[in-house]
Amino acid sequence: MVEIRLTNSKTRKKEVFEPIDPKNVRMYVCGPTVYDRAHLGNARPVVVFDVLNRLLQSVFGSEHVTYVRNFTDVDDKINATALARKEAGAEGSLEDLIHERTEETIGWYHADMDALGALRPNHEPRATGYIPQMIAMIEGLIARGHAYAAEGHVLFSVGSYADYGALSGRSVEDMIAGARVEVAPYKRDPMDFVLWKPSSDDLPGWDSPWGRGRPGWHIECSSMADDLLGEEFDIHGGGIDLQFPHHENEIAQSCCAHDHGGFARVWLHNEMLQVEGKKMSKSLGNFFTVRDLLDQGVPGEVIRFVFLGTHYRKPMDWTEKKRAEAEATLRHWMDLTWELEPTDPGEFVPQLDLVEALANDMNTHLALTILRALHHEPQRLLDNARFVGFLSDEARAKDRAERTAIPSGFGSGPSPELMKLAAELDLIRNEAKATKDFSRVDALKAALAEAGVEVRMSKAGVELLPGAGFDPAKLEGLL
Ligand code: AMP
Ligand code: ZN
Repeated sequence: MVEIRLTNSKTRKKEVFEPIDPKNVRMYVCGPTVYDRAHLGNARPVVVFDVLNRLLQSVFGSEHVTYVRNFTDVDDKINATALARKEAGAEGSLEDLIHERTEETIGWYHADMDALGALRPNHEPRATGYIPQMIAMIEGLIARGHAYAAEGHVLFSVGSYADYGALSGRSVEDMIAGARVEVAPYKRDPMDFVLWKPSSDDLPGWDSPWGRGRPGWHIECSSMADDLLGEEFDIHGGGIDLQFPHHENEIAQSCCAHDHGGFARVWLHNEMLQVEGKKMSKSLGNFFTVRDLLDQGVPGEVIRFVFLGTHYRKPMDWTEKKRAEAEATLRHWMDLTWELEPTDPGEFVPQLDLVEALANDMNTHLALTILRALHHEPQRLLDNARFVGFLSDEARAKDRAERTAIPSGFGSGPSPELMKLAAELDLIRNEAKATKDFSRVDALKAALAEAGVEVRMSKAGVELLPGAGFDPAKLEGLL
């Protein structure tokens, strides 16, 4: 079995990965807050952990990996978007509008991340589906002396957990100095963080022992991970921006809620994405969503390719130059492989050097180099590229449709004229194979070329592709 090594943020070391149970390798990744379209940076953890999911599946077997990525659907920003809609005259209660907004955003998220070739996780829990589990966990924390209720809030007592800060390797004093810690009258200590807070009547809320309210963000992940993966599991991932306070808080809650559970064993963090060397931000005008790029005609697999060119633990720079290079490489791969049939995934074993590159702390840059070197073996290129999430069925179908598209002015859909000519060419080609006289085949091919039609022949049949200079009028004499 290939040895996987991963850099654990918790120990700051590259470690050999040994799952708690190889029959059920468990991974949790913090997902998006669903109030708007995912921006390009949000897509980075999706692609990084998709590669890891694929690697784990190939090493341990796809049925032995459980990958969970949540949707945070309780949030002030969601409420604010729904409120803005209501004020703009939208019909329905605020609750309905909130629901509508989160459902719509989840639909966008799925469509956008599917386009990047990311496989859907096994579970995509929504925070609103786990409120009873959150309340139970908070009650447990109070009972164990790690949390206290005050003025409708419940707070986690950071002082009650000696290991607080161990993940980021910072002292509580450093963290207070570096963070915007909210001081509030109901807090015993400024570092204490919210597990539960009251909700006003016009905002979503749930009944609880502390009155009508809603959960804090951190307890959502702790509860969902606990419910779906158990007290202790293998890998927890997310962007480095979440390491403190979100992940420190998740660890504190989850470890204090149980006697033994150590929560996640390996912590993995992807670095941030920048654009042309600058932080992506609305004020700099370099902020864009995945959908913006897709709508501009940048294929999702090009985004994936650019992302994988940089190691996940390094900041990654999105540049126009990288986009163009990725697009050229993928086009070349598609040209080489579009007529081939992928090997059945059940029968295909990815190339060892490729798996080893990914197993070495996800060296995706090397993986791309290995794939590039396969250009003289198109079948292996196709199968191995698909293993890393490229040349998917969807991308291939789109490519095929573009290759066989009829230029505007010649009707839409496959042209009956070209289909008829393709059938005719196939027929006379078969006859020619028997008679060894290819003169009619050559003549028809030449006439088609003259009309601007590319002729592709394979064992499977004949395909006619109208090129840029296609002139339908020149087909008339051939029909
Ligand atoms: P959010 O919806 O802001 O909680 O973010 C969802 C995921 O995207 C988290 O794992 C973040 O760490 C990640 N993320 C947000 N911004 C960036 C960025 N610029 N680069 C890489 N990852 C990011
Ligand atoms: Zn989380």
